[in-house]
Amino acid sequence: MSGTAQIGVTGLAVMGRNLARNFARNGFTVAVHNRTTAKTDALVKEFGDEGAFVAAHTPQEFVAALERPRRLVVMVKAGEPTDAVIQEFAPLLDEGDVVVDGGNAHFEDTRRREKELRERGIHFVGAGISGGEEGALNGPSIMPGGSAESYESLGPMLEKISAKAKDGAPCVTHVGPDGAGHFVKMTHNGIEYADMQLIGEAYQLLRDVAGYSATQIAEIFRTWNTGRLDSYLIEITAEVLSQVDAATGKPFVDVVLDQAEQKGTGRWTVQIALDLGVPVSGIAEAVFARSVSGHAALREASRHLVGPTARKLGADEAAAFADQVEQALYASKIVSYTQGFHEIAAGSEKYDWNIDLGKVAAIWRGGCIIRAAFLDRITSAYEARAQLPSLLADKSFAEEIAAAQDDWRAVAATAITQGVPTPAFTSTLAYYDSLRAERLPAALTQGQRDYFGAHTYRRVDRDGVFHTLWGGDK
Ligand code: NAP
Repeated sequence: MSGTAQIGVTGLAVMGRNLARNFARNGFTVAVHNRTTAKTDALVKEFGDEGAFVAAHTPQEFVAALERPRRLVVMVKAGEPTDAVIQEFAPLLDEGDVVVDGGNAHFEDTRRREKELRERGIHFVGAGISGGEEGALNGPSIMPGGSAESYESLGPMLEKISAKAKDGAPCVTHVGPDGAGHFVKMTHNGIEYADMQLIGEAYQLLRDVAGYSATQIAEIFRTWNTGRLDSYLIEITAEVLSQVDAATGKPFVDVVLDQAEQKGTGRWTVQIALDLGVPVSGIAEAVFARSVSGHAALREASRHLVGPTARKLGADEAAAFADQVEQALYASKIVSYTQGFHEIAAGSEKYDWNIDLGKVAAIWRGGCIIRAAFLDRITSAYEARAQLPSLLADKSFAEEIAAAQDDWRAVAATAITQGVPTPAFTSTLAYYDSLRAERLPAALTQGQRDYFGAHTYRRVDRDGVFHTLWGGDK
């Protein structure tokens, strides 16, 4: 017998609970289930008047509550719990049912799970969901992978509950087969790491070199947010910098321990980039910067190391410097998105996902953490040329970087001479210069490799592979 719920959500912690409420608020009948049944009852008791919920206390009740073909969303802790839940539910499902994993799964796990369930005739959709608990409730950016058939059944519902971009377009698209959705979500998070690190470096320069207070820097970010840097992360940065600690009356940012934590998706982005051979230096530096910040003992033992102390600027110079930092931030941001999209393109090619990069940028315009006006530009760049080899090959981005680069270099030089660590600013600039260099020292590297390991090299003037008899006849 078929139930009446159009969708089910199992796993009712912050994300699952809010996602279930979002479906219900949009008029869907939602079956809800959680391992600990008290959470299921609490949800229905607290929010039952928001829409139609069917509380299920057992997996059997949950599955029975769903109309066929069933659509169920798993929102449990990523990793083993996801496998445990799939093992528990799969025997209760029928061919054609759709299981969505909305957790932060590693895309390789998603590929494995999709294959296993496909062999049983069940569609498995690894869906990246971004926007945190607020997004889950009011409209997240959703990045579903899986079969085209599963998207036919699921897409219209996801389009309803997703965030909407300023032009009204839903922030969801069928990203591609099996692990494509979780891969794109992973890279989204990697780009988010880079964005946050770049903002952090801008803040540190404005504090240590320009000599601005947290309140003044908040104002600067607010101004930036009205221009081309308009984005959620810039907006909340101004809010965080404006916050005053109630206990001490000091700026909140000055009483927080400066050791950044991480859950792992940034690290995955870098690990996978290394496997794919894609240089994502801005993202990697952002992950390493969090790591450095967390090495408290190492930092403590290094405080005596000698270096310059940043010199505070006068008011006029400070204002001019802040403008330069905006240019540097924008240029570095273009490069870190260039690197992130390169990784998606490389993943798409390796796994045969056929991901539309312009659509990925489009569904990040609302709901997710890196939402920004800037993403429209990326969509336009890929719409103009789907096979764009790099975002930097787009004329308008290249022109913007050209216009920003003097300031970008000046900021990087100031940071270096004044001893302010800016690994993301400087590494993205080095990437840019590496791409534009006519000759890289890689020729020398090849010579060294051939010298010590007979690894051979290619020549600029002849085809073929060569080896030199070092120390002997050349
Ligand atoms: P969470 O803390 O990651 O997970 C808690 C949920 O998992 C609870 O419902 C818990 O059930 C269930 N669970 C854990 N082990 C289980 C098992 N062996 N069998 C059955 N259920 C099990 O919850 P969350 O923060 O809401 O996140 C859910 C998923 O969304 C995660 O994959 C997370 O990475 C992803 N995500 C989170 C955010 C965010 O901002 N929090 C954003 C995007 C994506 P009990 O109540 O019975 O313990």
